[in-house]
Amino acid sequence: MSRALAPTLSLYLIQGLEARLQPSLYAKRDIAIVRGEGCHLYDSEGRRYLDAMSNYGVAALGHADPEYTAAMTDQLGRLISCHQSFYNDVRAAALAMIESVVPAETPRIFLSNSGAEAIEAALKFAIASSGRHGIVAAKKGYHGRTLGALSATADPKYRAPFEPLPIPATHVAYNDADALEAAVTEETAAIILEPILGEGGIHPATPEFLAAARRIADATGAVLIADEIQTGFRTGAPFVMPAQGVIPDILVAAKAIGNGFPVGVTAITEAISGGIPAGAHGTTYGASPLASRAVVASLTAFQDRDLYARSARVGERLMAEIRALNSPRVRDVRGRGLMIGVELKERVTPVLRALQERGVLVLPATPVVFRLLPPLIWDDAQTDELMAALAEVLA
Ligand code: PLP
Repeated sequence: MSRALAPTLSLYLIQGLEARLQPSLYAKRDIAIVRGEGCHLYDSEGRRYLDAMSNYGVAALGHADPEYTAAMTDQLGRLISCHQSFYNDVRAAALAMIESVVPAETPRIFLSNSGAEAIEAALKFAIASSGRHGIVAAKKGYHGRTLGALSATADPKYRAPFEPLPIPATHVAYNDADALEAAVTEETAAIILEPILGEGGIHPATPEFLAAARRIADATGAVLIADEIQTGFRTGAPFVMPAQGVIPDILVAAKAIGNGFPVGVTAITEAISGGIPAGAHGTTYGASPLASRAVVASLTAFQDRDLYARSARVGERLMAEIRALNSPRVRDVRGRGLMIGVELKERVTPVLRALQERGVLVLPATPVVFRLLPPLIWDDAQTDELMAALAEVLA
């Protein structure tokens, strides 16, 4: 298909091609998104939508951010790929910027191309450095769908077609420190936890649970892995677990750090780094100059535009306004910063559909929880726009 044709394709044609040519893995919405600007998206028919999901937490700077676009365009004209057997200027700059946001205790940084890949690396590094094989993760936890990451992911719907999975895993109730303690043994390579369950319904970990995870890992010699792929950069600080005073042995990030360009980050301690033999892991595309430029542009914007503090502030107001609706259909509103879950007393699908009809896109989490993961540039005008739709739909 010629590039010139793409913007003129009708919804009918787009739907027909995707339905015929893709395996039917996704439940699709009946619109085709073709363009974005700031916190808004546009479909093939020219209709505008408020984007309160930022492509599952990816589009941190919204869409078509001029500074990010200029940086990426500049890099496209310089150098896109450069294998890691060479040094590269932009990669070095990206690493230095990542060093400034991860804990000082996890200074060695492996770069890859997605969340699942970054988790895969974390698990391989934990196994190689500990010489152990089993992992302990949370029921309702989500860590991705490659075979290693899927071993950590709990949901039987994702796991069942692929059992047996390569890494033996025990899943314990989230926020249950006693269950965690009972499950972790001296055979456990890693404890892997999201500090706020994302796909699992926006449940924050209690500070006691995170502290217990650290204590149990220390007592048994297991590696503590923080999966901050969804929480990263949107809760008022770069990462939740360190902000709560719990330092993991491995911290994993993705999504927002590339603002849509695929990047995975696995930050590890010196000790773990020392336990991985040279050549034991690698990737052709990871840490490319283009991916690195995306990291530099995103982290620079997060800092220069004060987006951490702003996410906390704007998110607080948004949560307060949703609570103030006092909707009899809402059971709970919870989250931190711009990672918000709204639990209903009914199924969310009709609510998502009604919001989309009013030009607002939000994400499901569980069958009864919908999620707001808006761009970090979200402001009060967008909150007003969202609240007008929510007031109607949740009335
Ligand atoms: N871990 C968490 C907490 C996630 O939310 C996700 C994706 O939603 C992943 C891992 C997997 O990331 P990816 O979809 O980039 O493979």
